[in-house]
Amino acid sequence: MTLMSTENLASFSTKRVDLHSHTTCSDGGLSPTELIDRAVNFQIDVLAITDHDTVAALDIAKGYIQEKNYPLTIIDGIEISTRWHNFEIHIVGLNIQANHPALVSLIHSQQQARELRATLIGEKLAKCGFDHVYQQAKALAGEGSITRAHFAKVLLNQGHINHMQAAFDKYLGKGKRAYVKPQWCDIETAVEAIHLAGGSAVIAHPIRYDMTTKWLRRLVVDFKSCGGDGLEIVLPQMNNEQRKLMLSFCLEYDLLASLGSDFHYPTKWADLGKNLVLPEQAMPIWQAW
Ligand code: AMP
Ligand code: MN
Ligand code: MN
Ligand code: MN
Repeated sequence: MTLMSTENLASFSTKRVDLHSHTTCSDGGLSPTELIDRAVNFQIDVLAITDHDTVAALDIAKGYIQEKNYPLTIIDGIEISTRWHNFEIHIVGLNIQANHPALVSLIHSQQQARELRATLIGEKLAKCGFDHVYQQAKALAGEGSITRAHFAKVLLNQGHINHMQAAFDKYLGKGKRAYVKPQWCDIETAVEAIHLAGGSAVIAHPIRYDMTTKWLRRLVVDFKSCGGDGLEIVLPQMNNEQRKLMLSFCLEYDLLASLGSDFHYPTKWADLGKNLVLPEQAMPIWQAW
């Protein structure tokens, strides 16, 4: 499936590209139109919007770009939560046909899993003595995907914690008091739906899973055997050793390379398109398009 023109693609390598970002349709801080304005201000040329288990932002963003006649190319994307052993692995789908029935159906079951988990997290937090958290998290999420980030925000607003990370460290993180094991799909299912929708499947932020190198290699091998296409090897806050390891996985397992800020809202250390350049030896993911 080719959605991009060859001419466009050839020039991607010389452009400012960011292939991982969020909006208020999941746990991002900016609405789709605010995200587009920021991307244009930051002179981004190519932006993938990859909300958690939803594609709701894409049409809004693209309609706005057309209306404003902005010189920004949107790559239709999604970030799908999956369960792998005892880990939650995020698979980014890029250049997808967002309305493909296989993807629509997977999104539906993922949303059901999100809704169920949210009620259970609410119950656990109530047992911790925090009232009405579910209702408030639901109100924050609105029509969008409800995530643990919404619960973290409510705990922060209610004054139970001092910063978002503390919510994960104390309550929402794996094994903590209000952690609920999610019913995400497996990696193979996510890759398959992305492929049926004509897209490329990429392991999101491989360095963020709190895994040993041995486990990470196992993940990469499993992902490859599921037909996975690429790895996000350039993202904010990586050290040299991590960069080298990620590149070596791409080369060793013949995987394409992606890059992205995983932008949720502006922070000191990360913003749209900031410091995102693929190493020369890597084969960029857009070569698949
Ligand atoms: P969920 O997909 O509902 O499990 O929510 C996870 C989201 O919470 C991630 O996509 C991050 O944006 C945010 N988050 C922030 N800090 C953490 C953390 N320590 N662990 C997991 N998620 C975090
Ligand atoms: Mn997130
Ligand atoms: Mn993620
Ligand atoms: Mn993300």
